[in-house]
Amino acid sequence: MSVPPSETAHAWRPPRFMVIAAHPDDADFGPAATAAAWIDAGSVGWLVCCTSGDAGGEDPDLDPGELGMVRETEQGAAASVVGYAGVSFLHQPDGALDNDLALRELLVREIRTFRPDAILATDPEVIFYRDGGVNHSDHRAAGMAAVDAVYPAARNPMAFPWLAKSGLAAHIVRRLYLFWPNDPNVWVDVSATVDRKIEALRAHASQIHEPAKLETRIRDWAAETGAKIGATGAEAFRLVVIEDDEDEGPTGGGTTEAAAAEATDATEDTPAPEAAVAGSD
Ligand SMILES: [Zn+2]
Repeated sequence: MSVPPSETAHAWRPPRFMVIAAHPDDADFGPAATAAAWIDAGSVGWLVCCTSGDAGGEDPDLDPGELGMVRETEQGAAASVVGYAGVSFLHQPDGALDNDLALRELLVREIRTFRPDAILATDPEVIFYRDGGVNHSDHRAAGMAAVDAVYPAARNPMAFPWLAKSGLAAHIVRRLYLFWPNDPNVWVDVSATVDRKIEALRAHASQIHEPAKLETRIRDWAAETGAKIGATGAEAFRLVVIEDDEDEGPTGGGTTEAAAAEATDATEDTPAPEAAVAGSD
């Protein structure tokens, strides 16, 4: 059954963007194809992993430190496939991530150093996915920490004032793209980069046990999301515009697009994220 497209592909692209994720592989199950498409078009991307995924196994005798190192190496390889300029690991505890002031300061440091126009992070409002499953508490914490770091801390020179005094000037992030949303309002055409997403995911060998099955699932997921905009592949986001673009005027660009999407029924199925694919973090 084919349904005619009801939305148009999201056209705005951040010159610089940062993905903030809880675990190694979240960014690749999440917005990897969008990141690759934007990088191919000239954007510069940076990835921040709050944890090193040191609890992402089935064996209680595994050394978490060793697993964390393996997973950092895997994430580094995946990031090269996508084309990120670099990856930061914040070494927070996997399974116990907390949106506290210490994490916020670490994220503000990252934001003020890289100075992105947009940040991509997990939608922190999702506790239960509409089509089933529970969102990992680390995903919720990382998403909320990203939001709180963007607004107001990164833009306020009096937040963590020692940062501004030491040369990390306040920075305004203009947009948030929240991934794995229950209520998406923009769809990015990733027809050309789904293959890169799959290749990046294959780099997470410690987590991927059935790569062929994974590839099918990712392609189905991208196609299902792409049908919304008449593309062979798409990734969906909940876009929050914090600062309008100066050259777009008060009614221009993504604000209108997002507002229009908000006004329509945004209860479409969002394909299940990583939990449904790999069952791990
Ligand atoms: Zn995860």
